[in-house]
Amino acid sequence: MQTIGFIGLGIMGKPMAANLLGAGYPLIVYDIVPEAVAETVAKGAKAAKSPADVARQVDIVVTMLPNSPQVKTVVCGEDGVLSGAKAGLILVDMSSIAPLAAQEIAREAGKKGVVMLDCPVSGGQPKAVDGTLSIMAGGPEEVFEQVKPMLLCMGASAVLVGDVGSGNMTKLANQIIVAGNIAAMSEAMVLASKAGIDAEKVFEAIRGGLAGSTVLDAKMPLILQRNFNPGFRIDLHVKDLGNVVETAQEVEAPIPLTQEVLEMMKHLQAEGKGGQDHGGLVQYYEEKAGV
Ligand code: NAD
Repeated sequence: MQTIGFIGLGIMGKPMAANLLGAGYPLIVYDIVPEAVAETVAKGAKAAKSPADVARQVDIVVTMLPNSPQVKTVVCGEDGVLSGAKAGLILVDMSSIAPLAAQEIAREAGKKGVVMLDCPVSGGQPKAVDGTLSIMAGGPEEVFEQVKPMLLCMGASAVLVGDVGSGNMTKLANQIIVAGNIAAMSEAMVLASKAGIDAEKVFEAIRGGLAGSTVLDAKMPLILQRNFNPGFRIDLHVKDLGNVVETAQEVEAPIPLTQEVLEMMKHLQAEGKGGQDHGGLVQYYEEKAGV
């Protein structure tokens, strides 16, 4: 079995790494937070000293980091993956980053004979734990086919969309839809509450109809319980929608809905709520509604 390196053991990375261990892959791990490493080592992984040290020992490196700057540092920086990599190593970046950054990092990797796929995911922590994430991939088909069995230990589906960068372009589309859904459900629920209707009953009544969605089912129970523990932090969604804005400017696509939701999320960030789950967006409406 191929040995896998895993860098970035946060909310998502930790359960994803655990699923690879569960499937029997030998795993070498690294994170700047020692407690995160210790937890995965306790499950059978081996700790490395740096991203370069990970790369020296493995056939495939998986990264699951917050955003483009962290992926650039971990891959291209001093003691980074590329400084320890031998030609033929496969880099699978599963973070959600800017598509252009993914292409840039892939070009740098190519100079060392390392092939990169960008494979961001959707489904959040519960699906990371269950190994049922949706994985959207970009990169060369033969390399994708090679790593697909590994990807399917973490996901229920893995779809190759196109060249490197397409995975993250698809993830941006995903994030537009999720953000718009959360804003729409928040708007609807606060309207219903202001009109004196029980929000729980509204949820129960509509979830099986056309307004029902995975987002509604995942987020509404938490919103009703006022549970805004992440999950997916508002800070990370602002990062993704910022990448949407940048990309929309490049390709000249209109994104009025996303611009609006991004401003709402930034408003909550300014109030110190960026660490909350994105379901916390409902507070923007409650604030405006005076409830
Ligand atoms: P997180 O902040 O919980 O985890 C990131 C991990 O990376 C942390 O453990 C951190 O210590 C580590 N890290 C940061 N810089 C590092 C460095 N230089 N070297 C080594 N490790 C470093 O974030 P997360 O929620 O796990 O999200 C990871 C990625 O997955 C993000 O791009 C996010 O947008 C995406 N994502 C998250 C969710 C979700 O629900 N949380 C869902 C889908 C996609």
